[in-house]
Amino acid sequence: MRVVVTGGGGFIGSHVAHALNARGADVTTADIKYPEIRREWWQCARNMSYDLRVKDNARLAIEGADYVYHFAADMGGVGYFHSDKDPKAAATNMRIDLNVLDACQHYSVPFFYASSACAYPTRPTYLGLLEHDLREDMLGGGPADAMYGEEKRFMAMLLAHEPLARVGIFHTIYGPGQEWDGQRAKFPPAICRKVKEAARPLVGDGFTDNTPMLSPIEIWGDGSQTRTFLYIDDAVEKITAIAEAPDYAGPVNVGSDEVVTVKQCADWLCEHAGIEPNYRFDTSKPVGVVDRGCDNTLYNQRYGRPSQTTAREGLGRLFEWLP
Ligand code: NAD
Repeated sequence: MRVVVTGGGGFIGSHVAHALNARGADVTTADIKYPEIRREWWQCARNMSYDLRVKDNARLAIEGADYVYHFAADMGGVGYFHSDKDPKAAATNMRIDLNVLDACQHYSVPFFYASSACAYPTRPTYLGLLEHDLREDMLGGGPADAMYGEEKRFMAMLLAHEPLARVGIFHTIYGPGQEWDGQRAKFPPAICRKVKEAARPLVGDGFTDNTPMLSPIEIWGDGSQTRTFLYIDDAVEKITAIAEAPDYAGPVNVGSDEVVTVKQCADWLCEHAGIEPNYRFDTSKPVGVVDRGCDNTLYNQRYGRPSQTTAREGLGRLFEWLP
């Protein structure tokens, strides 16, 4: 089976490429850049450098494939999509997505598409829907989160009518191999990095004695915002289960059942690192949607088992992976 993984130099793509290779698939990645931080996953495949914003490149990359996992995107954390980079990223993603769709249709290749929880309405109550957990039938019911989310919503709804496509709606996925610094870092690696930095105390304050000083850990918002975080191994299992299952019921959530607060995650990591929590809450920073849960009923009924890794375990593993 010849599989092409677009964005295979990135976080999720490199893990999926590695897992498929381990199962005996002939894997090729197509990515614009050299995957410098993910060698251990990325070395399992043939790697091609293509800018998928160019239509002919998408056709070249996909010709001869039996299946395409499409993860290439201009991607970042909440700060990235609540900045002036958002419209440009959405336009880039639209171009890449339509080129990959064109190529898959041209060669009649089935494919998996990565949508996002940002595609859901940001204010479900605005619709009279009081549910906290996002469910697939809420897609399209109101404004999505940033232009990034609008594009992911448009593609998910468009591809619901494309027989070649399978769509996963990703709720935050995290794990080793993920960007951990700068605007592209999502919350789990960013908080792991901050706790790791805080756990390396400066020795002495230069005036009185040599008592270690712990720098405060910055948390965006007041820390009470809720999220679900899906560990990468569980995500890979869910993505491949959706792609390989004989039946398909339209876009399906790929997330965890465990709802956690941002502060709870920081507390676990401080305990893991053996330091006393010392936070500085910055309520001027963007936090995105305040409460977001994930309804996994559709996935559990049709495709497989619930996620296995708790947020506490997964964050600990990510913490240990970070330099
Ligand atoms: P990532 O940034 O690690 O990977 C994306 C890859 O796409 C990168 O390697 C990048 O170089 C590549 N890329 C960007 N522009 C390209 C272009 N023009 N041509 C070819 N390749 C290009 O991101 P990720 O976290 O692995 O996300 C993968 C997919 O999952 C994306 O579509 C993203 O929107 C979606 N998603 C991810 C999450 C998450 O929590 N990580 C949540 C929701 C949705």
